Amino acid sequence: MSNQSKERYEESELYKIRHSCAHIMAQAVMEMFPGQARIAIGPPIESGFYYDFDLPRQLTLDDFETIEKRMRQIISAKHPFARKEVSADEARAQFKDQPYKIELIDGLDKGGTDEYGNPISEKPVISFYTHDTFTDLCRGPHVEHTGKINPSAFKLMSIAGAYWRGDAERPQLQRVYGTAWKTADELKEYLWKLEEAKKRDHRKLGKDLGLFYLSDDVGPGLPLFTPKGEMLRYLMEKYVRDTQTKYGYQHVWTGHLVKEDLYRKSGHYDNYKDSMFPPMEDEGVTFRLKPMNCPSHMTLFKEMGLHSYKELPLRFAEFATLYRYEKTGELNGLTRVRALTQDDCHIFCAPDQIEQEFTLCLNLIREVLARYKFTDYNVRLSLRGSEGKYVADDEKWEKATAALKAALDANGVDYEAVEGEAAFYGPKADFLARDVIGREWQLSTIQVDFIQPARLGCEYIGEDGQPHTPVLLHRAVTGSTERFLGVLIEHFAGAFPVWLSPVQAMVIPIADRHVGYAHRVVQQLKDSGFRVEVDTRSERMQAKIRDAQMQKIPYMLVCGDKEAEAGAVAVRLRSGEDLKAKPLAEVMSMMSTAVERGD
Ligand SMILES: [Zn+2]
Ligand SMILES: [Zn+2]
Repeated sequence: MSNQSKERYEESELYKIRHSCAHIMAQAVMEMFPGQARIAIGPPIESGFYYDFDLPRQLTLDDFETIEKRMRQIISAKHPFARKEVSADEARAQFKDQPYKIELIDGLDKGGTDEYGNPISEKPVISFYTHDTFTDLCRGPHVEHTGKINPSAFKLMSIAGAYWRGDAERPQLQRVYGTAWKTADELKEYLWKLEEAKKRDHRKLGKDLGLFYLSDDVGPGLPLFTPKGEMLRYLMEKYVRDTQTKYGYQHVWTGHLVKEDLYRKSGHYDNYKDSMFPPMEDEGVTFRLKPMNCPSHMTLFKEMGLHSYKELPLRFAEFATLYRYEKTGELNGLTRVRALTQDDCHIFCAPDQIEQEFTLCLNLIREVLARYKFTDYNVRLSLRGSEGKYVADDEKWEKATAALKAALDANGVDYEAVEGEAAFYGPKADFLARDVIGREWQLSTIQVDFIQPARLGCEYIGEDGQPHTPVLLHRAVTGSTERFLGVLIEHFAGAFPVWLSPVQAMVIPIADRHVGYAHRVVQQLKDSGFRVEVDTRSERMQAKIRDAQMQKIPYMLVCGDKEAEAGAVAVRLRSGEDLKAKPLAEVMSMMSTAVERGD
């Protein structure tokens, strides 16, 4: 969540509902252990709330029914939430038996932390919120009374261990998570999405569909792709490569190792050194595995000789495998890896070409995302903040920001402007695409950079015959092949569109005597450019169809006596639909149409 959407959330009704639910749950849990329950913190979170407890025994999922029942009673009694400002001493007196609260009160009193122990700049007013018998150290806000909570729209979800203040040296508390919504339907949808997300988990599907593996022998975050997985990579990269070529990009190749000095010159060393793998020394020279392409592309631009303004914009694209140091605990399947193949592009242009180039990037991104059936996305425009990491040049920042806004407006793209989230070298626009179950993924990015080309000495000769520094646009459309594949597996639940399916058709002979015909069908399909396999195992036909369906293969082409005689195949779709026998030529044209349409 960006800072601004977080602020909006904190002012929303849902936030108050969840926060109030956390208090109501804490009351219910305290009543289960009279005089023995110690409470810590209980904030609302993205889709619900939690509360941390120190209790005489471990809670279990069986306790949830009791707690929820008591919560419903508290809700139906419509107890008002009353706010009261207190002094630190009054607060200490109220919570004299609650050591965690006392520690938080001391933090509030000293200043520097809020009632959750989070750092804040000012010294806050200390306030309580009380409903029924429960009082919490709390700045609110809350709903008016407990009856404002919909008793059929909340649910306790799970219990996890959480160290007090995140410190492994401090006591381990029991964190009870819950979710709360305005309506029972919203709760139902949320639970459905969670269930669906579990089923679609790309780490599980990747294994089931035989697409990739992670091996301890190779190392964490370094996935190995099977022939099917590599076919997906190839198709994805080919599609983006062809689209880029159509948009006037030129593909380049700049290798994997780079002298560290280049990253010092470009400024990456200072800003990203923690994301780089450790240095390699050779003959007194320090090398790094390439964590980004920009400095290499700029060097190439320079080495190609003196450029004229007539050559601009010059668009370099590269599918480059980059190596980024991620902590092993943060690695996750394909969506967080240490070797990522970015569809990275750098556009060298004149300052007055920013708007037109940005528009071209927008169009390319929209075309590519639509091909992958991402039609619902938000654009976040990240602008300079007041902190020191931004390179100073007010006029350039303003001009670039204005060009980006103008291009977004001219193309009717809605966006949210967020201050303080720009890269150190300029403003950027990020595309957050929503998948079929409503999760947001940051995919494409376009970043304006008026700093690095100057640092690395990139120049072109302008119309005036004088040398000028080009503006650089950094652009990625799918982000990285690995992460995007992870997202696609979940977006399509493994049932890729026909054009992207590693195996488009499985040919299934009914009996051994049909194997010869089946092979002829396979050959004809292959000759027409389709990716096809044949299942000659001596399994029953139904079992073969089921297995192909489990592999999410779009077409199953069954070959028996009748089909062999007629030059036909009986078509089954992975959805289970039975299209019956059709001449092979008709089936091939049906498949071609599906590929073209992007089905
Ligand atoms: Zn509270
Ligand atoms: Zn770049």
